[in-house]
Amino acid sequence: MKRKAILISIDGLGDRPIHELGELTPLEAAATPTLDRIASKGLTGLVDPYAPGIPCGTDVGHLCMLGYDPNEVYSGRGPIEALGAGLEIFPGDVAFRCNFATVDQEGKVSDRRAGRIRDGVAELARLLDNISLNEDIIANFAPATDHRAVLVLRGKGLSPQVSDSDPGGNNEGMAMQKVQPLDKTDAAIRTAQAVEQYLAIAREVLGKHPLNRQRIMSGQLPANAILTRGAGIVTYCTPLRERFKGLRCAAVSGEATVQAIAKMAGMQNYTHPGITGSYDFNGKLKAAAVLELLADNDLVLVHIKATDLAGHDGRWDQKKNIIEQIDTMVGQIKANIPPDTLIAITADHSTPCTVKEHSGDPVPAVIWGKGVRADKQVTYGETSCSHGGLGRITGNNYFHILIDLMGFSQKFGA
Ligand SMILES: [Zn+2]
Repeated sequence: MKRKAILISIDGLGDRPIHELGELTPLEAAATPTLDRIASKGLTGLVDPYAPGIPCGTDVGHLCMLGYDPNEVYSGRGPIEALGAGLEIFPGDVAFRCNFATVDQEGKVSDRRAGRIRDGVAELARLLDNISLNEDIIANFAPATDHRAVLVLRGKGLSPQVSDSDPGGNNEGMAMQKVQPLDKTDAAIRTAQAVEQYLAIAREVLGKHPLNRQRIMSGQLPANAILTRGAGIVTYCTPLRERFKGLRCAAVSGEATVQAIAKMAGMQNYTHPGITGSYDFNGKLKAAAVLELLADNDLVLVHIKATDLAGHDGRWDQKKNIIEQIDTMVGQIKANIPPDTLIAITADHSTPCTVKEHSGDPVPAVIWGKGVRADKQVTYGETSCSHGGLGRITGNNYFHILIDLMGFSQKFGA
């Protein structure tokens, strides 16, 4: 029998005890009647998104949560950003994260973000898109948020083993770096040459553009160069529906990274201008979207970013408050799902307020639904989940357990 499931990803949920909260975590201190009811009737545990003690990014954390091995499908930020920016990418393409930047006459980077340029970026990006380079390599380029953009090189025998032209965050005033092959393969040499050729074209096109002349006249920094970093090769990622008996799946997220991972996994992305990847995440709208998508899908992923943001800001009070809002959202979902639906709640990584960064701490996880074996835990929290029936497992294990409960797993053996 097949069943539907909702996978709730609370970004950076896991935390550490906070003195001001009486040595509780924000999740433990928050009033979460729905999450606790789910935990009391469900199967709980601790999940190491990738592996114990290894902090991971939102991208890797979500790949693991969807049952992928990041070592097989992940080779840097570039491809994820390219997907997020809406560029079409194919296996073998090499993608880079880019910035529009200001470079002075001596080739020194005076501002890595070209004064955080926004206006006119789309127009500049259009001129840098679809450019033919030597050796039949095509360069595609698209704007992302603000001064950010992505570059995708397509051609035979490309490699992500090339260095960044971006001197890096703390190195303003340094020269733009020459892109070098990082190994001795022909592919790396070809790719480095192609990037260098592209960056020279970009400087020529941007340098004489009227928009930049206007910016200089009005005292703004010109966007006269492109900086590249984070090269990654696009690998084939088997869609979830091919891996698991035609599993139909969709994702609700306001964040480009998670939308990109969902796209990689072959999930339908639901978007709405009221759904953000920010503090104002609009739980009501997200709950409605989940319920709508559940009609035509087997698995619906819903992602909330705000908890991670509060963790990075070190705001335990805000994190606690957001968790209470999430509890309300989960309550709205739970009250309106068909009786057979499973609810799974976990996170992509921990972002402790005391660390203000992702940490390697495991995250609390639960699976709830009719017929799911319950354990003795009655609340949803880091400490209580450590005694649960799921034990301590990886994100991959967790996803496969959910898929099996849904009836979409493949038997191993005869
Ligand atoms: Zn984060």
